[in-house]
Amino acid sequence: MRYDLVVGLETHVELNTKTKIFCNCANKFGSEPNTNCCPICLGHPGTLPKLNEKVVNFAIRAGLALNCEVNLISKMDRKNYVYPDLPKAYQISQFYDPICKNGYIELDSGKKIRINHIHMEEDAAKLVYKGGDTYVDYNRGGVPLLEVVTEPDISSSDEAKEYLEKLQMIMRYIGVSDCKMQEGSIKCDVNVSVKPEGSDKLGIRTEIKNMNSITFMAKAIDYERERHIEIIENGGKIMQQTLRYLPETNSTESMRSKEDAQDYRYFRDPDLVDIVLTKEQINEIRNSLPELPGERFKKYVNEFGISENDAVLLVKYKNVSDYFESAIEGLKNVKTVSNFIIGQIFRSLETEAEKEEFKILTAPNQINELAKLIESGKLNMNLAKKALIKMLESGKPVTEFVSESDMKGISREEMKKMCEEAVKANENAVKDYLSGKEKALKALLGSVMKQTRGRGNAQEIEEILKGIIVK
Ligand code: ADP
Ligand code: MG
Ligand code: ZN
Repeated sequence: MRYDLVVGLETHVELNTKTKIFCNCANKFGSEPNTNCCPICLGHPGTLPKLNEKVVNFAIRAGLALNCEVNLISKMDRKNYVYPDLPKAYQISQFYDPICKNGYIELDSGKKIRINHIHMEEDAAKLVYKGGDTYVDYNRGGVPLLEVVTEPDISSSDEAKEYLEKLQMIMRYIGVSDCKMQEGSIKCDVNVSVKPEGSDKLGIRTEIKNMNSITFMAKAIDYERERHIEIIENGGKIMQQTLRYLPETNSTESMRSKEDAQDYRYFRDPDLVDIVLTKEQINEIRNSLPELPGERFKKYVNEFGISENDAVLLVKYKNVSDYFESAIEGLKNVKTVSNFIIGQIFRSLETEAEKEEFKILTAPNQINELAKLIESGKLNMNLAKKALIKMLESGKPVTEFVSESDMKGISREEMKKMCEEAVKANENAVKDYLSGKEKALKALLGSVMKQTRGRGNAQEIEEILKGIIVK
């Protein structure tokens, strides 16, 4: 039998607010253990949480960027469970009335992965395992998170990857999270099931917890898919459970049988008031959103005529895309700039992190100046590329590297004179060419080009040369 894969993702996005969600402790990665804590985030009895307004603001930003409706009233609930990473024995989260609902992320294929809701919650502390002992670092306790929950709309590991990459990109564009997987600022619970091809009844799912690598997530999905199919084909039944992925063996193991919402005894947190928003507030945030990568991608391809492959590279990091947008101001042909960025500039940046940061010495207006010289025909591409390399090394403007005469271009008369001289000085090459050796002409062409210091147009010169030789 053939099967459909069904995947739903619950993604935790750690927000990059300065302080935690319910207290004034710093929200910082990599501090000495247990230095960013206070009685509130340590859950001491008698302390009262106070919701960080910035977290609400970020949640609304995220919701709007993910095409969600924002609820005018939302509430905080307690999710009860006992574990050493949770000193209060409950996590403050949103269950009954989350802040955003009904959004989607559109994949390149045009398929929309629906988002059921987004809710705000606090992160738990971090357990550190060392030499057989377990330590608790409470710095992470109370760090603000958004959880973005999809409908079970994802039907392959590739779609899951693309969804997550797009989510990551959007969160970075709107500035709410750096989404660094290696620092755990984005993590995913992956729900997987299979069903007979075309059936509309969902199969029983398993949930792989805490995936913090896109590659492993994709492998885990493929592994689970095969495992489910094998069990079903052998007449067995899938047990709904929570799993852990083991990268060393590319397999999964059981953590616990799946808990249900009722196991958590969710109830309204009596310490916190309702979050009441106005339409004006939401509109204000909507107006402050930057152009998103999906919109930019479409603009680059449809309006600017940039290839899809290049557009992907340009929008991937906001810094790159912002730079591009500012460097193309007033240009008719923006492809020159796009080629400079993807070619020469990217070549000078080694790692993805460097590309993301996009700290280069040359300012966008300097690239703009260079592109304008090309566009107006004052400077040819050869010289421009050479100048660009020097500009990138020094941060100096193009005028430092091209002379007045470079920019004047070269007249046909001048080229003709150079060609005549070259023909006179290279009798042998001329003879060779006349006897059928095409290559000989290239040598002549090369020497004339050199004389023009790159200003000449190779095609035009070749034409002139032929005209002189073959009278
Ligand atoms: P819970 O809160 O118990 O984890 P939810 O109903 O909130 O359950 O679903 C959590 C995630 O699991 C969602 O992303 C949802 O799309 C996904 N999901 C639900 N049922 C299935 C299924 N049968 N197969 C795959 N994913 C599923
Ligand atoms: Mg879940
Ligand atoms: Zn605190």
